[in-house]
Amino acid sequence: MGATGGIAASVSAESDTPWARVCTKFKQEFGQQAYTTWLGQLGYHGLDGGTVELTAPTKFVRDWIQRNYGPRLMDFFHAEDNRVKSLSIRLAAKGAVPATPAQPVVRADSAPQIDASTKDDEKAALDPKYTFDTFVVGKSNELAYAAAKRIAESDEVSFNPLFLHGGVGLGKTHLMHAIAWEVKRRAPQKKVAYVSAEKFMFEFISAIRYKDTHAFKQKFRAADLLMVDDVQFIANKESTQEEFFHTFNALIDNRCQLVITADRSPTDLEGIEERIVSRLGWGLVADIHPTDYELRLGILQSKAEQVPGVDVPVEVLEFLAKRIISNVRELEGALNRVMAYATLVGRPITMEMTRDVLQDLIRANDRKVTIDEIQRTVAEYYNLRLSEMLSQRRSRVIARPRQVAMFLSKQLTSRSLPEIGRRFGGRDHTTVMHAVRKIEDLVKSDSTLDEDITRLTRLLAG
Ligand code: ADP
Ligand code: MG
Repeated sequence: MGATGGIAASVSAESDTPWARVCTKFKQEFGQQAYTTWLGQLGYHGLDGGTVELTAPTKFVRDWIQRNYGPRLMDFFHAEDNRVKSLSIRLAAKGAVPATPAQPVVRADSAPQIDASTKDDEKAALDPKYTFDTFVVGKSNELAYAAAKRIAESDEVSFNPLFLHGGVGLGKTHLMHAIAWEVKRRAPQKKVAYVSAEKFMFEFISAIRYKDTHAFKQKFRAADLLMVDDVQFIANKESTQEEFFHTFNALIDNRCQLVITADRSPTDLEGIEERIVSRLGWGLVADIHPTDYELRLGILQSKAEQVPGVDVPVEVLEFLAKRIISNVRELEGALNRVMAYATLVGRPITMEMTRDVLQDLIRANDRKVTIDEIQRTVAEYYNLRLSEMLSQRRSRVIARPRQVAMFLSKQLTSRSLPEIGRRFGGRDHTTVMHAVRKIEDLVKSDSTLDEDITRLTRLLAG
């Protein structure tokens, strides 16, 4: 049930072990895909002294996890048990199964069935809940949505590749899966391949090791539609990039549609060769911006409706949309947690229960961004003094950054318009509203401003 784990999964008995909780945290932070590819392959064998004992099926998996996820895993384990001092990942004996199996994945029963008779193993990687129907559209994602829809519905290759980018948990993977489901429904004869860039790399490296690069090439180059998720993962991986680029060119030459996602724009991808970056930008680049309050509320309403029999009061939805601003994944996780709790204790959902269950999350989101920080960061970014930004001066070089700062204050904090106005040198709420609209309007045509907003958002959120 998506990256956050489903209700049934979160209340089932298995989820109540330290290892399961670490797995859940891992999924929340890195997504289901990364979990399935990496952590889900490990076996957990308990704690020996201060050392967590884990086993991995291959050396590659072990090294990869240690290098890329080691420190975070330590944090997660340490939060479970503060005696934990180190992780030990041994290689599992051949043919051994993980000591603790991965958690069961709960699927909604209304979901389309995955046809096991086809050999298309990529299908299994698609989440049945990630469709266009379940995707809620707002200003921040309408371009990405429209582009994804167009690709799924047209038989012509319209823009190649489609490059979707945006911060974590904002719906990139959801849109990709939606394209895949829609194409499978409309044109079942088409070959659709969906992979995470990590998996692409993993398979490529295995192919080299087992000297079977031919099959690898066949598999990806035979696709009518190839989707590669999270390409930032192949930054600095030269040989994988090389293969990716060849596959990429071969597909484009064959007029196959490509869809690619990353957590940043092509030009911001570091460690990826120039020629790849430029080719990535050839088609359509669409970014997904952080959500605003209305979209968050819409998403929550839609998610709550998808679970029959659980009634979530509107004030609870509004509260969540106001307080959990980091990303949709976390928002969804919060709603799931409240619903799971209510189901478990058999009581209706109330505000009090919500506050209680989500204490930690709410605190974390509160800590996130303040208007002060936004003002300071924006002033610094545009080389202005803070006093200038808060002054009454109206010259463009000052007024525009000020509008950007107001816009970001609306987006990233839960402060009201009058409150934001007060903090910007005692301005009226209509001035703030005007600023927000102005920036929303400008980013559609002004790509520099659009980039500025993305950079600033990342600076502030990270
Ligand atoms: P990303 O790949 O950008 O990190 P995901 O696609 O995994 O993000 O989205 C994280 C979660 O948020 C998913 O469960 C997804 O269904 C949900 N989500 C994100 N955006 C939307 C949206 N606009 N409407 C409905 N659900 C959304
Ligand atoms: Mg994703």
